[in-house]
Amino acid sequence: MKVLVVNCGSSSLKYQLFDSETEQALASGVASRVAVNGGTQAQLEHRVAGNSSHVVCAPMPDHEVALGHVLEALVHPEHGVLNTLEEIGAVGHRVVHGGERFSESVLIDDKVIAAIEGFCEIAPLHNPANLQGILASRHRLPGVPMVAVFDTAFHQTLPPTAYIYGLPYELYEERGIRRYGFHGTSHRYVAGQAVEVLGAAGRSADKIITCHLGNGCSITAVEGGKSVQTSMGFTPLAGLLMGTRCGDIDPALVPYLINHLGMDSREIDEMLNKRSGLLGISGVSSDMRDIHAAAEAGNPRARLARDIFCYRLRRYIGAYAAVIGGVDAVVFTAGIGENDAWVRAQAMQGLGFLGLCLDEQANADGNLNGSRDVATAESRARILIIPTNEELLISRDTAALASTEQSVLRDPA
Ligand code: ADP
Repeated sequence: MKVLVVNCGSSSLKYQLFDSETEQALASGVASRVAVNGGTQAQLEHRVAGNSSHVVCAPMPDHEVALGHVLEALVHPEHGVLNTLEEIGAVGHRVVHGGERFSESVLIDDKVIAAIEGFCEIAPLHNPANLQGILASRHRLPGVPMVAVFDTAFHQTLPPTAYIYGLPYELYEERGIRRYGFHGTSHRYVAGQAVEVLGAAGRSADKIITCHLGNGCSITAVEGGKSVQTSMGFTPLAGLLMGTRCGDIDPALVPYLINHLGMDSREIDEMLNKRSGLLGISGVSSDMRDIHAAAEAGNPRARLARDIFCYRLRRYIGAYAAVIGGVDAVVFTAGIGENDAWVRAQAMQGLGFLGLCLDEQANADGNLNGSRDVATAESRARILIIPTNEELLISRDTAALASTEQSVLRDPA
């Protein structure tokens, strides 16, 4: 089956078309500046596996028009990979927030759409765009089964001790205020890969700590394949230091900023999400590569920013080992996790007491792609680098659910 995976942001539409049997991505791309200034400067960059990209510049006032251009590109006589759109057997959508309702991926129907809409209040930056992608696909590909894969779903196994905040309990009961956690598709994918790698080596894989370090960063404790604690919270602002997000701070800072600096809630929200983290501390950039360049040129705030990034990561790894009573493997993934040997080395410093010993040479070898183990041969626990592939997991879930629907249609009870 050919599965189209769609990931809509407020001004973008990213996609990949998979062959679910071979798990190969046949084509991928991104429509950007969708709906910005009426979508007059939008463009679609479409890439067919192994070829250079094909760019379409066209007005894209909304996600439905953008999706129309994506579908045209997929069947384009020169740049396309499909003869007709009827070859698309299912569409998988990345949806950020599934609240407490969705602990796994689901086939999309009117009730699911209403539920996703209901979570717009607690995910105002993400769910509305995800929803637009779903509605656009419904119009453009009527009758094709669609599946929602939620960023929060993997973390629905957290126990209440891990998700209830120290606030009046009514806020949880009446307003759903609790830790949800995000990046769940990535944590689930790399944890699953880690289980395979460790199992093949005859090693225990019960206690895994997964570190997703991209522009957004989060860390998850996975026990027996289930997420039991994760660093992001009610929103993706909590936990680790990130590119522009502050991660954990003292909540009393918010009223302090209101009362003493005259900031309002919008300004504070913008500062904590867009002007903090690596960017805020260094004053240089939110990109770890720029931070390294500045640190090596002697910039003390860039040095401090990267040190704080690694310190907080190490602190969380220690805490999560305590939560799950030890660790069989730590997994690094996403832009920084997969590529940044310096960060991995700093984060792992002093963790020998947990049985985690980094092989400095293997860690520094930048010529290797794909999954690898960078712990020393003697290290009791493993240190794994595993490239994340959220789209592939969305495609797998989508193909599995779409085929159950098709079999129900074939054999009505
Ligand atoms: P996103 O969360 O937007 O998907 P990515 O997973 O691409 O982000 O991660 C972006 C981060 O990864 C940036 O801080 C960037 O500096 C870092 N990064 C990407 N490639 C490298 C590299 N080769 N070495 C060090 N850092 C890298």
